Amino acid sequence: MSAATPQVDCQRCSACGRCVAACPAKLFTLDVDGFRKTARRQVSTDCRRCFACGRSCPVRAISPAPDADQKNR
Ligand code: SF4
Ligand code: SF4
Repeated sequence: MSAATPQVDCQRCSACGRCVAACPAKLFTLDVDGFRKTARRQVSTDCRRCFACGRSCPVRAISPAPDADQKNR
């Protein structure tokens, strides 16, 4: 079965922090990237694939991508 996990498009991200608040597994942080901030999601098998993060993003910077979290299991 294929699975997907959310990936952040750093070019779109406005660092509003909504995904940080929305994730029930607390996988998001806001990190400095050059002269700006951007959301980063921790690669973790704790991701529930609920996509609350994607729904919370006002600029649609979070989209599903082929699952990277399961590779190292
Ligand atoms: S899909 Fe759910 S658990 Fe996974 S990063 Fe998004 S909000 Fe967190
Ligand atoms: S909700 Fe979207 S714009 Fe806001 S910090 Fe998260 S990825 Fe960036």
